[in-house]
Amino acid sequence: MILYNTLGNEKQEFIPFESNRVRMYTCGPTVYHYAHIGNLRTYIMEDVLEKYLRYSGYDVTRVMNITDVGHLSSDADTGEDKMLKGAKREKKTVLEIAQFYTDAFFEDCKKLNIKTPDVVEPATNCIEEFIEMVSVLLEKEYAYISGGNVYFDTSKLDKYYVFGNQKEEDLEVGVREDVEEDLAKRNKTDFVLWFTKSKFDSQELKWESPWGLGYPGWHIECSSISIKHLGEYCDIHCGGVDNAFPHHTNEIAQSEAYLGHQWCKHWFHVLHLLDRRGKMSKSKGEFLTVSLLEEKGYNPLAYRMFCLQSHYRKPLMFDFDILDNTVTAYNKLVSRIANLKNDGEVDTNVANEYIAKFKENMDNDLNTSLGLTSLYDVLKAKTNDKTKLYLIEDFDKVLSLDLIAAADKLRAENEQKSLGVDTEKIEELIAKRQEARANKDWATADAIRDELNAMHVVVKDSKDGITWEIQQ
Ligand SMILES: [Zn+2]
Repeated sequence: MILYNTLGNEKQEFIPFESNRVRMYTCGPTVYHYAHIGNLRTYIMEDVLEKYLRYSGYDVTRVMNITDVGHLSSDADTGEDKMLKGAKREKKTVLEIAQFYTDAFFEDCKKLNIKTPDVVEPATNCIEEFIEMVSVLLEKEYAYISGGNVYFDTSKLDKYYVFGNQKEEDLEVGVREDVEEDLAKRNKTDFVLWFTKSKFDSQELKWESPWGLGYPGWHIECSSISIKHLGEYCDIHCGGVDNAFPHHTNEIAQSEAYLGHQWCKHWFHVLHLLDRRGKMSKSKGEFLTVSLLEEKGYNPLAYRMFCLQSHYRKPLMFDFDILDNTVTAYNKLVSRIANLKNDGEVDTNVANEYIAKFKENMDNDLNTSLGLTSLYDVLKAKTNDKTKLYLIEDFDKVLSLDLIAAADKLRAENEQKSLGVDTEKIEELIAKRQEARANKDWATADAIRDELNAMHVVVKDSKDGITWEIQQ
């Protein structure tokens, strides 16, 4: 597979350290607020990458951290602790906030068919490991103590700007990750490994360390968690493009100083989602979340398809009009699949030919847009429906658009419609009955129940939600 590697800034053949195994690391969310759909674009594309590596036969282990401590900057650059800010806003403890938004994040991921990584590790679980790593960096004299904090000394490195395209001026952005005008630093590019002098008086989470009561810097988290679960070598490290500098640059500095050898071979960065104001963020414009898309009536998988339509290394412009076009495309695709008949035998020769083409598309720097085109090529293919269904199901292991399930559902609805069953009306009535019950409006709820009974609809409540069927 050919993949663009930010380390080297070129397309390269992806070759893991061990032939069949891929150790994959993903920078996880800072759990102080809901993720916006711009953050989720990155996770969608990483999910496609992981699934495609598995599809290609690799044994993948994927690790993700949860930043529940130590990430101090804010999108608005107000210099407030993000976690503390969230806790204050919602009158909860920092750990309650972290748990709440971790759950919310995975809830969103589920709706977008993003697989949960094999290992999900909150930073607060790994304080001992962070302290160990910082201690070794001090022993090796890659770190120093100044003004109460432990810093990484970037002047000890042969090369700090490993991605090659950052400049001294960019550091202005990086510097605010740490402490404003930090005079305790020896070099402008140095960064904090362990804080004991917080500029936030009310910092809630602190731990004992050889350097005093404090908490870890943000960058140490990912290095340490990656090494803890994946070992000394990592094949591919992923994140949003804004993580490349300074976060990933600092991760490489401290990991390789700690290990004494190359750490991660391949760096995969996903470009931003933009809206008319520029890069999407929590602090400006409409705060676009998966729940908001659902409230507006969008299937989250339409958003997934919207992301797949564009290459991960290009900024993607979000607009509801464009999303509407994707919804139309998704529904048409599902409807064409629903019209296929599940009979005959799979034609292996034809199937292999189309699988080869799909792989060629995806092997080309994860070209998901061409991956989607493969679906349309299959629908147009001169072969039987069974082969087409087989291929669509196969490609959807990577694309994860629930195409077969959505087509089955549509087919069932069409059948009911042909029998005179108005699915839309029934679901509307059930929703209204739920609403009435929630409002303790028993009279309305009973009236709706009678109406449903008259239509021979039997409603069942189960832990997976409400189902219904027609009983004649
Ligand atoms: Zn990270």
